[in-house]
Amino acid sequence: MNCYECKKKIKDFLDDSLNSKNTIEFVNHVRSCKECMEELSIEYLVSEGLKRLDTATSFNLDNELNDKLNEALSKAKFNRYFAVICGIVIFIVAFLLGLLLSTLFTY
Ligand SMILES: [Zn+2]
Repeated sequence: MNCYECKKKIKDFLDDSLNSKNTIEFVNHVRSCKECMEELSIEYLVSEGLKRLDTATSFNLDNELNDKLNEALSKAKFNRYFAVICGIVIFIVAFLLGLLLSTLFTY
């Protein structure tokens, strides 16, 4: 992912609307790119700051953003892992069904 793509996806990331693949690429990019990380921090500060104007509690946005990045990454990784497991299970079930059907019809 390049900087241009990354910056276009900041809003989607903050809305939690990126898919697993994009989330992983996005988090990896902002972690290695100072410029995009800065942009993300500003967007995060604006969106979270506005949400919390009423409550006026103090918050540590740097930590929170870091938590959000970690959480998004592990969720995305889990989802991809889960998709692979599902694929394997479906394959095995289909294979067993095929085997079952072929033994049923040979007798
Ligand atoms: Zn960048």
